[in-house]
Amino acid sequence: MTEDRPGWPPPELDFSKPTIARAYDALLGGKDNFAADRALADHACEHIPGLRDSAVENRKVLVRGVRWLAREAGIDQFLDLGSGLPTVTNTHEVAKAENPAARTVYVDIDPLVLVHGRALLAENPETRVIVGDVREPDAVLGHEEVTGHLDFGRPMALMLVGMLHYLSPDIGDRVVATLRDALAPGSYLFMTSLVDTGLPAQQELARITRESLEEGWARTPEEIERHFGDFELVDPGVVYTALWRPDGPVDPGALTPGEQLGMAGIALKKS
Ligand code: SAM
Repeated sequence: MTEDRPGWPPPELDFSKPTIARAYDALLGGKDNFAADRALADHACEHIPGLRDSAVENRKVLVRGVRWLAREAGIDQFLDLGSGLPTVTNTHEVAKAENPAARTVYVDIDPLVLVHGRALLAENPETRVIVGDVREPDAVLGHEEVTGHLDFGRPMALMLVGMLHYLSPDIGDRVVATLRDALAPGSYLFMTSLVDTGLPAQQELARITRESLEEGWARTPEEIERHFGDFELVDPGVVYTALWRPDGPVDPGALTPGEQLGMAGIALKKS
């Protein structure tokens, strides 16, 4: 178990309350979570059928999206906001498998991400990790590790994967617009979000998340789409994550409850 690792947890961090990153890690069956995080994950799973599957689906679409961006769209710079704790297949690994020179900057509000980042950095000179709050986009975009590592004069992929639903509607409008404006033409915005298509579990998950972690908002597909502004959505548009360019056939009429919690989309900034 995580707590058995020598010198773990870092004494300066508070593990008595759950965090988004660690509870998500618990949902994915990872090792970087503590009793409070597992309690929250279990509580949410009791109320939301298929929640664990939904987290797995979100990781799968992250991999497919990054692979598509690196392979088909030729993107070699990734700014991954709300990147989470390292898990099985991470953005920089997927991107570097397509292009070994691909650069990635990870940004997350959870300081535990930085603890892992130090280990990651030692092995990956193309990768950076910083602690930052996406609700303050100017500070994130102006951070010296971000501006020093990524070239905003060239196309990049900006990712808010599994992250948009932690921004309240008004903050989300402001933040995502600022992020879109910072990108060069030819860049892509890649987002996934908890969705509201009228199924009770979707708003219930938003409520549980808000109660335990302060932020949690389910958006309609139209609201998610609006955050892409005038960017041009790549086919198939904003769809349930399992339907975004799946590796094999998926029957849209037979999605499981967990597959109906999140939607994904990627869009191009044309000018
Ligand atoms: N992007 C990863 C993925 O899709 O697998 C992780 C998603 S996880 C559900 C959401 C992440 O967003 C967490 O790691 C959390 O710490 C981070 N996060 C939430 N609010 C944030 C904020 N305001 N600024 C930066 N990161 C934030």
